[in-house]
Amino acid sequence: MARSDRILDELGLGPVWVSRVAGTRANVLADSSVARGTPMQIEPAHVKQKPALMPAGSPDGESAVGSINADALVTTMPAGTRVVSIEAPGHTPMALSAVEQLDWPALAERVSHCTSCKLCEKRTQTVFGVGDPNADWMLIGEAPGETEDKQGEPFVGQAGKLLDNMLRSLGMQRGHDVYIANVIKCRPPNNRNPEPEEVARCEPYLQRQVALVQPKLIVAMGRFAAQSLLKTTASIASLRGRLHEYQNVPVIVTYHPAYLLRSLPDKAKAWSDLCMAKATYEKLRG
Ligand code: URA
Repeated sequence: MARSDRILDELGLGPVWVSRVAGTRANVLADSSVARGTPMQIEPAHVKQKPALMPAGSPDGESAVGSINADALVTTMPAGTRVVSIEAPGHTPMALSAVEQLDWPALAERVSHCTSCKLCEKRTQTVFGVGDPNADWMLIGEAPGETEDKQGEPFVGQAGKLLDNMLRSLGMQRGHDVYIANVIKCRPPNNRNPEPEEVARCEPYLQRQVALVQPKLIVAMGRFAAQSLLKTTASIASLRGRLHEYQNVPVIVTYHPAYLLRSLPDKAKAWSDLCMAKATYEKLRG
């Protein structure tokens, strides 16, 4: 057994997700509107031309590079960095119009200093996002957990290891092809559910991230992310297997990796969701 497999086994994350190319289509056929022949709501016209890859910190694109160093794309503030309030006391709403205008560095800076809601009081640091800023795929989770709060990067705890494994099974890799972010940028104390007001205060940041990345496809991971993006209270079971839309980008809903760690039988359904995502992406690319 390969060392990486042994490590995943130790973590309880095995068996490794292996792409069964032949089975992939079959799974899609079994469980997606794409395969059922339902016409896709999203026309290929939505597929956008992207500029060359460039690191998130490159404001003008002059330092465009052919290969991306994932570390360079993680926008973080070091733990313990002094948080400077740019908002009036009492968590007043941020100037939404300003967020819409921000470029990557300015957006990351704004998030790192955000005091728009009370989550800023208990966080170690904000967790902005990680990955290829021109990715075709965007994965969106709920909020940072303890490890993410410490490290300043989304999905680096156990759920993140499973997520990396899922990406590998699709032939993808953190830092390439995909941008990972959360609906909420600060850890809710004791991992409680984020409150509606916290979602509302934080959403402009995610909206701007989506506008900057211009992904061809969004995968919403878990009930909270799905419900927040799609502005619904519908169950995850009813949202899976269908195409939705967020800011004109097709959205596919799947289970949260942390849930899959507790409910291994549902890994098969999540695999089916990812196959649907891949089939949708390929169809959009034409
Ligand atoms: N769960 C999430 O939704 N996001 C993270 O970054 C980590 C765990």
